[in-house]
Amino acid sequence: MKCPKCHSEDLHRSRRRGLKEGWSLRRKQLAPYRCSACGNRFIAAEPRPSGQERALSIADYLGLNSRARERCNGTVILGGLSSLLILLSILLFLALALGWIEPESLPRRGP
Ligand SMILES: [Zn+2]
Repeated sequence: MKCPKCHSEDLHRSRRRGLKEGWSLRRKQLAPYRCSACGNRFIAAEPRPSGQERALSIADYLGLNSRARERCNGTVILGGLSSLLILLSILLFLALALGWIEPESLPRRGP
């Protein structure tokens, strides 16, 4: 990779600026770089490990940084979402069964 301004190969990764930039760049698998020779900052494709195209994880879509990503990988997020869904289903079932809520479509008891 070369600097688009001075064509030097002396580059280093620059920090992503803010959540918005981090999120949009990570989603497109791009990363900011800075040229050590002329100080030019530019956006380029992120080098992929072992040349394989990495599938975007849920953490990528959420724009999590590497530290949050370690604790919060796709399995954890999916697991959390599905347990929340199960909990809501149980709550809805209980609400209907115990008569906390009474939908109009169900026949009412009593006079
Ligand atoms: Zn340069």
